Amino acid sequence: MRSEYLVSACSGAAIHVKEGQFITVIDIEGEQVADFFAEAGQNPNEYLSAGVTIDCNESLRLNVGDTIYTNLYRPMFQLVADDVGEHDLIHPCCREEMYEFFYGNGKGHSNCLDHINNSLNRHRTGITPVNLFMCTRIRRDGSISVEAPVSKETKWSSRRLWMCVWGWLRAAYRRADATEESVQQLKLL
Ligand SMILES: [Zn+2]
Repeated sequence: MRSEYLVSACSGAAIHVKEGQFITVIDIEGEQVADFFAEAGQNPNEYLSAGVTIDCNESLRLNVGDTIYTNLYRPMFQLVADDVGEHDLIHPCCREEMYEFFYGNGKGHSNCLDHINNSLNRHRTGITPVNLFMCTRIRRDGSISVEAPVSKETKWSSRRLWMCVWGWLRAAYRRADATEESVQQLKLL
């Protein structure tokens, strides 16, 4: 059975998925970043860990065939297909304090941390998600820059990423929002 969810701009959605099911994320219009986070259905203290994923895969990149791990070093998702190929594992969810630090407009700013917490009914103090479609470049001197998502260069049908689910979990999922006007819908299949 296939279910379809549309994630509106500047909002979040939580879905239940079971072992063996697939999640497909589609950046409908392109150039959209989405914060992807999940927790184990039986144990909210086990959750997606971008750091452990970097550690286990020995890579800052996510490649087809790679596994996304939990904080307890257990496999959670496997990336089975990816037409975009640029995702970020190092940036934390945006939050009011981040907008205040960089732009001085944090008070009441829509942000991924709140949307994920609200979607899962949690109060996590910080989350480092898989930032789907986010294009972060790491220079030789270690400095980083965030470039426009490359999904803009692809056709609609190719802005997809498929993941196979390893265990019971809840996935929460959220659009990034550099400026609220620029945020578009995403589709989950
Ligand atoms: Zn964000």
